[in-house]
Amino acid sequence: MPDTTIAMNLKQVRQEIDEACHRFGRDPSSVNLLAVSKTKPASLVRQAIEARQYHFGENYLQEAQEKIQAINEANVHWHYIGAIQSNKTRAIAAGFDWVHTVSTPKVGRRLAEQRPADLPPLKILIQVNISGEASKAGIAPADTQVLVDHLIHLPNLELRGLMAIPAPQPGEAGQRASFAALRRLRDDIKIRFGSDLPVFDDLSMGMSGDMVAAIAEGATWLRIGTAIFGSRN
Ligand SMILES: *Cc1c(COP(=O)(O)O)cnc(C)c1O
Repeated sequence: MPDTTIAMNLKQVRQEIDEACHRFGRDPSSVNLLAVSKTKPASLVRQAIEARQYHFGENYLQEAQEKIQAINEANVHWHYIGAIQSNKTRAIAAGFDWVHTVSTPKVGRRLAEQRPADLPPLKILIQVNISGEASKAGIAPADTQVLVDHLIHLPNLELRGLMAIPAPQPGEAGQRASFAALRRLRDDIKIRFGSDLPVFDDLSMGMSGDMVAAIAEGATWLRIGTAIFGSRN
């Protein structure tokens, strides 16, 4: 593996993931690493690819489109994890493999209509405002099942699970409480919808500062930026 800073950071993050999996009895292959490359140049994304990282998360559409075009590799997968304005859904549906931040029926409908026919279904996650913060994006936990009911009937989408950005907590116990709430919500939805929702398993939760707690509570996608690419100014 090339000896770049990014490669060394990735090695360190993977080691921490393996250790946490060991500590909490998780199979490391069930925990996926999403490298959040927002604000970082394509050259650093290429270094990560060299170090066998193939999933990248982006928040800003125009910046992401430029990077996706510059990289243009079939085995690299792009995840949209930013806020979604309705006028951006067409480009998101065409350019990305996953969207983690669906929280309204309208955005779901538009992504379904606008997903190009020659591409596989767009994998989507519902963003839940798990800490109930007034300022945060995402649907309220209590309204999530109704949104699932809207989204499962749409074509060209594959509803894969839930995503959250909990309010910051100082310690592991507090962090785990929020992540556990998201996991329970996923479990409730899986039971309620049964075979209508065959692959509703993903939990996109945990960032550089709280990934151990997220692994403890069942994260399947860790969204890690700073620990891989360094701080953003
Ligand atoms: C920026 C961002 C991340 C990565 O955060 P770090 O603290 O840098 O690891 C994860 N998820 C979302 C939604 C983000 O916007």
